[in-house]
Amino acid sequence: MPDIVLTECLDTTVSKRWVRVALDLPLAELYDYWSGVPVEIGDRVIVLFGRRKMIGLVVGLPDTPDFDPAKVKEVQVVLKDIKHLTTSWLRFASFAAEYYQRPLGEVIMPALPMPLRSVSSYQGKRSGAGPVARLASRRTAAQQAVSASAIPALNPAQEQAVAAIVATQAFKTFLLYGVTGSGKTEVYLHAAAQTLARGQRVLMLVPEINLTPQFEQSLRARLEPVAGVNGVAVMHSALSDGERLRAWLRVQSGEARIVLGTRLAIFAPLDDVGLIVVDEEHDPSYKQQDGLRYSARDLAVWRAHDLGIPVVLGSATPSLESWANAEKATYQRLDLPARARDVTLPSVRLVDTRRLQMEHGLSPHLLEAMRIRLANKEQVLIFLNRRGYAPALHCRSCGWVSQCSRCTTFTVLHRAQASRAQLHCHHCGLVQSVPKGCPDCGDQDLQPMGRGTQRIEEHLAELFPQARIVRIDADSTRKKGSAQALFASVHAGEVDILVGTQMVAKGHDFANLGLVGVLNADAMLFSQDFRAPERLFAQLMQVAGRAGRHTGHGEVIVQTGYPEQAVYQALLKHDYAGFARHSILERQAAALPPFSYQALLSAEAQDLNVALDFLQAARESANELSAHYQTQEVLTLYDPVPLRIVRVDNMCRAQLLLESTNRPALQSLLRHWLKLLPEQLDARRVRWQLEVDPLEI
Ligand code: ADP
Ligand code: ZN
Ligand code: ZN
Repeated sequence: MPDIVLTECLDTTVSKRWVRVALDLPLAELYDYWSGVPVEIGDRVIVLFGRRKMIGLVVGLPDTPDFDPAKVKEVQVVLKDIKHLTTSWLRFASFAAEYYQRPLGEVIMPALPMPLRSVSSYQGKRSGAGPVARLASRRTAAQQAVSASAIPALNPAQEQAVAAIVATQAFKTFLLYGVTGSGKTEVYLHAAAQTLARGQRVLMLVPEINLTPQFEQSLRARLEPVAGVNGVAVMHSALSDGERLRAWLRVQSGEARIVLGTRLAIFAPLDDVGLIVVDEEHDPSYKQQDGLRYSARDLAVWRAHDLGIPVVLGSATPSLESWANAEKATYQRLDLPARARDVTLPSVRLVDTRRLQMEHGLSPHLLEAMRIRLANKEQVLIFLNRRGYAPALHCRSCGWVSQCSRCTTFTVLHRAQASRAQLHCHHCGLVQSVPKGCPDCGDQDLQPMGRGTQRIEEHLAELFPQARIVRIDADSTRKKGSAQALFASVHAGEVDILVGTQMVAKGHDFANLGLVGVLNADAMLFSQDFRAPERLFAQLMQVAGRAGRHTGHGEVIVQTGYPEQAVYQALLKHDYAGFARHSILERQAAALPPFSYQALLSAEAQDLNVALDFLQAARESANELSAHYQTQEVLTLYDPVPLRIVRVDNMCRAQLLLESTNRPALQSLLRHWLKLLPEQLDARRVRWQLEVDPLEI
């Protein structure tokens, strides 16, 4: 741990040095101060902004300040308790800020652990020394060494993939396209081991916090001999401030040789990386949905480019963007065409629910298949991407349906164990008690409408009284560590039936799971979003891929009312390539991404018309700019439209889509446009934000 030196800048007689600082403020500017003590680019400083004390990051040491030198304030404290951030890291953050059109300070500061960017952690007697020193003085339990695990011999396809990756010591993007269970993880581990052996570090991204324990275990078991007992650092948003700080410092100091994390780990402070891995690269979780709306996958490719190193994007169902890049040979494809263990892919069956007598939403085919698997002591996974007991409560006599008072959505019936049923709004978080009778007609007989995971769990308990059932969804895993414990019980064979949402669909290598049942996948079929079929297909392939991973003879039963849809037909044949070919042609015909680039301006206001008027004015100014820069031919401005769920938390939402076949033209238009937008603000009655490369439209 570096020694702590808090250099107080009290002596005003020393020569002034101008210091340009990025602060976490929604303003695009950088702020100039002066310092009488040595400061480096990448240092953190405490400064006064107005009357507020803030921590900022030094991003420049200009010869002259940007405004009247006489008014430039002095830096209060130069924080030297950590090594300064490197210029390479700052270059990366600057790119992200520029590309996603956000102020630099709003990118840089949130990327640091909270204690390093909040003034309060440096104030007061006890905290005067700062969070780094406090952490160093606290004893921590030494990491337990993980016992080394056997290394399977790679099959020829895996070997080729590893060889191609490690032979590359310059920038190159690999698309590791391997069916579920094809041993992509093994490829990452081998490539990582060789990168470490060369003295370089490895950055590995996974889409879900839940997947980190499994990966951490394999990384430590396999790579600790090369990386050391503290060689693996884990970064994700569920860590406490202290844990996050500790991991971050281990990365920055170089102690951690491997960084494993979710999307935010792309901002980890390290430069001597020799390999970046993005597992399940198609996964929407790589997209941050508020603040800086970045794609960690896209940033990973930029960072690899900047550092001159290979990046591996792995998936059984690559995003169409990545697939198209591989077709153009911008990315190099590496194929793992078969499962690594000597097992086949699961067989897929579509059960047409239109003509069937269902039992609590479960078809006779699925129930029969479950009986067989359970009798055979195999595990069953029931996948339903809808948490809660029922999507709504309704009145049979008058048709009343439970609705949120703050949003234009239904409220979801939840029946937590031991506690009474409640109505939850999944959009604004409002929780209401269930009315005694119908608010409209007074009828006492209110009924749940449809089924969520809780209700399916309840039915399954009645139908299979002997079975040990576990439900894994956002509700059953609120407590820290509970998801990990539930997954561990599944892996330990203490569970017969697993009911879950998308949380259970990804990544897990279940050894004894024979059957996957998919309920209500149709909900996603008719979404307006042009990416919905791609997402549905990826999700179905992922969840189907959980079946028969070790024992073979896996089976997937999809209940649907639309078995003839292309998505399901492709799933039957495990035909990602065919599905991708078909979808890419469609996208090309419609000039949609990856054949164009998009940006989305969203606005919300109490009154929908205010939001729409703002967007209309914004559209006109974009139009003028486009005329001025003569980009009309490559730029499409759509009409402002209300969102499907128009009101959330009493704010009405609308959006304006911009599309261009020319990315630099779009980028430069956005830059000019953003400067004009505040003038369109209707007396602050509108909240707006701009998203580059939006994933949901
Ligand atoms: P993926 O990430 O592609 O879905 P995994 O990496 O989880 O697949 O591998 C699936 C299973 O196959 C795992 O249980 C893994 O231990 C095993 N496996 C991977 N490579 C080999 C190999 N070369 N020989 C035998 N088993 C392997
Ligand atoms: Zn009623
Ligand atoms: Zn609501």
